[in-house]
Amino acid sequence: MKVLVTSRSFGQVGTEALSVLEGAGIQMTRLVDDYTDEKFAETIPEYDALIIGAHKFPAEVMERCGRLQIIAKHGAGLDNIDLEAAKRLGITVTNVPATNANAVADLAVAHMLNLCRGVSAASWGVKNGVWKVYIGRDMYAKTLGLVGFGNIAKNVARRARGFSMKVLAYDPYITEVPEEFQDYVAIASLDEVCAKSDFVSVHVPLTDETRNMFDRKRLDMMKTGAFLINTSRGGIVEEQALFEVCKEGKLGGAALDVVETEPLPADSPLLTLSNIVVTPHIGMYSYEAVNAVSVTCAENVAKKLGGETPRFVVV
Ligand code: NAD
Repeated sequence: MKVLVTSRSFGQVGTEALSVLEGAGIQMTRLVDDYTDEKFAETIPEYDALIIGAHKFPAEVMERCGRLQIIAKHGAGLDNIDLEAAKRLGITVTNVPATNANAVADLAVAHMLNLCRGVSAASWGVKNGVWKVYIGRDMYAKTLGLVGFGNIAKNVARRARGFSMKVLAYDPYITEVPEEFQDYVAIASLDEVCAKSDFVSVHVPLTDETRNMFDRKRLDMMKTGAFLINTSRGGIVEEQALFEVCKEGKLGGAALDVVETEPLPADSPLLTLSNIVVTPHIGMYSYEAVNAVSVTCAENVAKKLGGETPRFVVV
């Protein structure tokens, strides 16, 4: 039995996940450093299992994978995998939900603090010889708007409570606030979240509904001076519109862990503004999260190839 690994971080922070595969007699090959879409399309039909990162796995390639039994997503978001095609072809797809929710929530809060106190901008100044006082904003007791109220957003809310923040959450698929949050989280419309929040943090999957959700019109609905944080997926925030509102001072700033084209092209206007912070899709990359996600992927591959039902089956 053979598994192809195209996730760069799989098994990189410990040996536990690799031991699971080894123990199940599964031979592992990495296609990471020399990954190209063409090489992947050529190689994957020879494998029984795939541990995949963020690259696309389109239907036309899947159709040539007669041996493939399982696609294990090394993470939560599934927008790079054609799920309809996998279902039609009888290939099991699993992901690892919630496991990275603490790591991503930490990063979202780190971005919030960074933006409101101008940490990156001030540090950039110091490194360039400018010792200048930067007067920021407190996070304490401000209003936080959460777009999506799933695993990551809930962990952001838990952290926001420590800052005595009021939390407004927009999630059309949630009708009731779980008891744990009832004291400090209120369900609101997206318009209300935008109009009332000092910080808006986005935690939705990329779907037809959420693509370009934050276009110029939506950004203009936000409070002047507010901060926007997107650690979910590129394509949800329109980058040109974001650049404009941050340049004009309509927004106080923005932080993106995800962008439409990754890596972000060197000529992106986003890189020219000190109030826009971009991190290279590092949300899930804490030691603890990467290890836990890797172990679950390895266990799922071993289970499926051993004839058992894996955890977190999506199709
Ligand atoms: P989740 O499934 O627990 O939560 C997503 C929430 O979004 C759900 O409650 C759902 O009802 C809600 N939702 C769906 N469509 C919506 C819409 N149109 N408007 C408002 N809410 C909507 O997922 P999660 O674990 O919280 O992750 C959220 C997203 O974060 C993932 O889809 C993924 O794209 C992204 N993510 C990024 C990183 C990173 O490294 N930056 C890591 C993990 C996940």
